[in-house]
Amino acid sequence: MATTLIKNGTIVNSGETYKADVLIDGERISRIGSTLSRKADNVVDARGQYLVPGGIDVHTHLAMPFGGTVSSDDFYTGHKGAAFGGTTTHIDFCIQSKGESFEKSLKTWHDKADDKACIDYGFHMAITDLNAKTMEELPKLPSMGVTSIKLFMAYKGVLQVDDDTLFQAMRIAGKSGILSMVHAENGDVIDTLVSEALEAGNTSPAWHGRTRPHLCEAEATGRAIAMSGLADAPLYVVHMTCESAVDQLRLGQKQGLKVYGETCTQYFMTSQADLERPGFEGAKYVCSPPIRTKHDQEALWKAVADGTLAVISTDHCPFNFKGQKDLGKDDFSKIPNGMPGIEDRMYMTYDRGVRKEKISMNKWVELNCTNPAKLFGLYPRKGTITVGSDADIVLWDTKATKTVSAKTHHMNIDYNTYEGKRIRGLPTKTFRRGHLIVDDGEFLAEAGSGRFLRRERVKL
Ligand SMILES: [Zn+2]
Repeated sequence: MATTLIKNGTIVNSGETYKADVLIDGERISRIGSTLSRKADNVVDARGQYLVPGGIDVHTHLAMPFGGTVSSDDFYTGHKGAAFGGTTTHIDFCIQSKGESFEKSLKTWHDKADDKACIDYGFHMAITDLNAKTMEELPKLPSMGVTSIKLFMAYKGVLQVDDDTLFQAMRIAGKSGILSMVHAENGDVIDTLVSEALEAGNTSPAWHGRTRPHLCEAEATGRAIAMSGLADAPLYVVHMTCESAVDQLRLGQKQGLKVYGETCTQYFMTSQADLERPGFEGAKYVCSPPIRTKHDQEALWKAVADGTLAVISTDHCPFNFKGQKDLGKDDFSKIPNGMPGIEDRMYMTYDRGVRKEKISMNKWVELNCTNPAKLFGLYPRKGTITVGSDADIVLWDTKATKTVSAKTHHMNIDYNTYEGKRIRGLPTKTFRRGHLIVDDGEFLAEAGSGRFLRRERVKL
């Protein structure tokens, strides 16, 4: 097993910042100290750079079937993009097909990932069909390495579950050390609003946002939180976008319920104005829940800073502008939902968050690395630079700059959400379990070298 010594860097964890050398032995961090002089097979000088834990993106959809097409990044290209952005772990959603066992659905997702993976990964189980059989199978998910489930309160007729299913699934999950996640939007109301808009001839991308008002999200968030209390099960609300929903979460937390929330990079940085761009351009920004207002962006920065929201993820679900998004050219409801971002998350939130003094660098690590590991059964194996942890380490250069563009990104998609944005603060080297997988612009990981992570039961 090779050893690597990273010298002269400054470690940034969620709770501390200090100068130290780090010795990696094989795949783990074996020593941390000032001026370690031990011989190592490889020595990296990190003078002037920060060492941050590898990013963990707990909300992604690689190679996911949706609306008659499949998201454009697979487990190779998505992982390549992630690695270039300083993300070394992600958790993807395995979607149960109706009538299928969880075990069978997981096999499908393992097959997508096995030979392609370049970073480490886990799966959440998205439940679409809870019946007598799958209710019995649910408590066995942790033995398959899966300790979180997802339930959709929107996408009526496709993924949406009713309140009975929501309640029963959460109750079993709570007893089994499984974290329940919800997509919180009122799918029934949205269905009505979408039909009305289309009947009135309103077909442009802007109507995607207009037919999914923030109160649909706030209502469903409040309902899910109440359900979490009724079911005595911890809850994690994915991709929260707006002040009214965050207020519901804050209230639940005040009531002592074990409720946690996540937002995604794009909700800080894009708004309804992007959905209203001329022509069909707005389709690039169609995701659910929709991007909101400048006021909501500020409310989200405040909520991550004060700890109401625990995690920043991406909901990375890329569809090409040409050939995929245009399925909805004449009908916004047929535009595949999702935006790319697995590569952009760390530097966009650093530039817009840390540099603009919305959050500290430690808070940025907490939101992007540490809390995701803690909430999803990966801590302290991941999400921190500590002796004994996996050597997932990113060298971060706060002076490096670039202009974000689809021309230079590594994801397999023909546009970038943040096209043309000038940013400062970038990863220069990415280590995944001790292996240097990105070295100053060069990709060194082999397909199949990423590993499936069997996650611990969640104790919240
Ligand atoms: Zn999603």
